[in-house]
Amino acid sequence: MIIRFERNGKMKHGWMVEDENKVRVIEGDIYKRDQTKPVMTGLEVPLDEVKIATPCTPSKVVCIGLNYKDHAQEIGAELPQEPLLFLKPSTSVIGPGDPIIYPALTQNLHYEGELAVVIKKEARRIKAEEADQYILGFTCALDITARDLQGRDGQWTRAKGFDTFCPLGPAIAAKVDYHNLRIVTRVNGEVRQDSHTSQMVFKIPQLLEAITAVMTLLPGDVVLTGTPAGVGSLQPGDEVSVTIEDIGTLTNRVISESAR
Ligand code: MG
Repeated sequence: MIIRFERNGKMKHGWMVEDENKVRVIEGDIYKRDQTKPVMTGLEVPLDEVKIATPCTPSKVVCIGLNYKDHAQEIGAELPQEPLLFLKPSTSVIGPGDPIIYPALTQNLHYEGELAVVIKKEARRIKAEEADQYILGFTCALDITARDLQGRDGQWTRAKGFDTFCPLGPAIAAKVDYHNLRIVTRVNGEVRQDSHTSQMVFKIPQLLEAITAVMTLLPGDVVLTGTPAGVGSLQPGDEVSVTIEDIGTLTNRVISESAR
């Protein structure tokens, strides 16, 4: 599992070995496989001495609306005929443990637990069959949403785009069976979403084909693949977590804008 972490004021990538409480430090660009390819330095640091940051720094986060059968059913929506795309700005991204700010502009803040795809190399007009070679790995995400603004605006830039509305992490798992993962969202320890990536309407390779027919995905860009049934509201003070099988658990706490 790859993490990005801060230690002694410097950002590094590392290979997290959780059961041994350590991180093996990686030097170089993890997205490159040529002469600047990443190398394991042989250095190890204790996991509990580092601050885990966002696993990548995307130029954009491309999101899919209404991509789980159970979620479409729950809100009585028809299944989409083609992937519904929207964007979250790079400035919405925060890391594990960072606070989600409850904006004064909304009265109805929602969690949406999602599986995130991290892009490995530039992808433009790719076919679904070749999608896997463009994927670095997978991590956990929250598509935090101001549900009242989403309804009011008609398009979702404001509702989905506030600073802190895209927690990502903690680690990137390179090899997972992404069609077949349990995904569970908890609020204050209570299960709110409990589903499976097999419920996706459009599978990840199809999503990458549809997105890259429109825009180029760059190394480190992130695709949020939609949320399952069970979305609901958050209050200041709540702790929200997303656990995805074989990937990990992302946990963040909500604080009100005035408490900042
Ligand atoms: Mg979503």
